[in-house]
Amino acid sequence: MSIICDFRENIKNDELKNISKVIKEGGLVVFPTETVYGIGADATNKEAVAKIFEAKGRPQDNPLIVHVDSIKMVKEYTSSINDTEKKLMEMFWPGPLTVILKSNGILPDNVTAGLSTVGIRMPDNNIALEIIKKAGTPIAAPSANVSGRPSGTKLEDIYEELKEKVEVFVNGGNTDIGIESTVVKVDEENVVNILRPGKISKEDIEEIGLKVRLDKHIFEDVKDGEKVESPGMKHRHYAPKTKTILLEYNEDSSIMQDKVREYIDNNSNKKIGIICFSEHEEYYKNMGIKCITISSVNNNLEMSRNIFSYLRKIDKLNIDICIIEGVKKEKIGTAIMNRLIRACEYNIL
Ligand code: AMP
Ligand code: MG
Repeated sequence: MSIICDFRENIKNDELKNISKVIKEGGLVVFPTETVYGIGADATNKEAVAKIFEAKGRPQDNPLIVHVDSIKMVKEYTSSINDTEKKLMEMFWPGPLTVILKSNGILPDNVTAGLSTVGIRMPDNNIALEIIKKAGTPIAAPSANVSGRPSGTKLEDIYEELKEKVEVFVNGGNTDIGIESTVVKVDEENVVNILRPGKISKEDIEEIGLKVRLDKHIFEDVKDGEKVESPGMKHRHYAPKTKTILLEYNEDSSIMQDKVREYIDNNSNKKIGIICFSEHEEYYKNMGIKCITISSVNNNLEMSRNIFSYLRKIDKLNIDICIIEGVKKEKIGTAIMNRLIRACEYNIL
């Protein structure tokens, strides 16, 4: 039986003590971060880490992000840290940026999926930081969801699928950002390679004077046998059971709307719905399809906050096909489109 700790109003000390005890004894805790909920275990305990893979049904080759409360803690588990990596941590931590660093081999090999590197970040969320501090150990925590499902941004969305597998759920309300951290790896030429986009964007990293490159697999599927920088790129992600189609963004919204009109005309035997911006609702309603508004147009922060919860709703809408309006691929929009392209399994309109 799992227990729920409600930390939405404040962190309760006696419950925090119990959470740290569960972590230290090798148990699993679901807790909020500023990005999405994590399912965490003591990163130094191989058996505890194995329980995360088991609970999520996560492929063994997909390494976990290790959450720390300080740069000091990073140094205990990594070998060399260069100036660029140091700058990234100093400028963006605590925050939604995971830096891939050289492991010194102390963390068990299931955390890193046998790689010589380890992904580390310091979350910008008091509940998460207090749990790490109290446990006194780094916490390995992938997103709290069964593998392949959308990540959890509120406890209600994930409780059912994980309740048999986790000792403690910590409720911290809706997460702020709603999509997972930006994952970066610094290469030999000191270029910051974005392996997974997130709230901290290419533009944000360039602004602190660093060279940045977006990995090509951010928008492209991985071909069979192709080598990737980050194992997570290969795996199926976020897709609802209902067929979903991503409608590409256009400055001229009438072009987007004409594409939908044509699609509906060509699929008149299907029940079609659309996840759209509130400003476009009227137009799509007039086409006679079901509309679910996700955010106001150009409010990408509101969209990122809602996206995973909305992806979870699609299968309950009683439709055959769901179209999702896309956003411009800039700043956090790059991250939103990366998640949507995967959720739509590369079906693009
Ligand atoms: P999740 O925690 O489920 O949001 O996924 C973590 C992401 O970080 C996955 O895409 C992993 O493949 C990636 N990742 C974690 N550690 C490493 C690493 N050492 N090298 C490359 N990618 C990593
Ligand atoms: Mg995940």
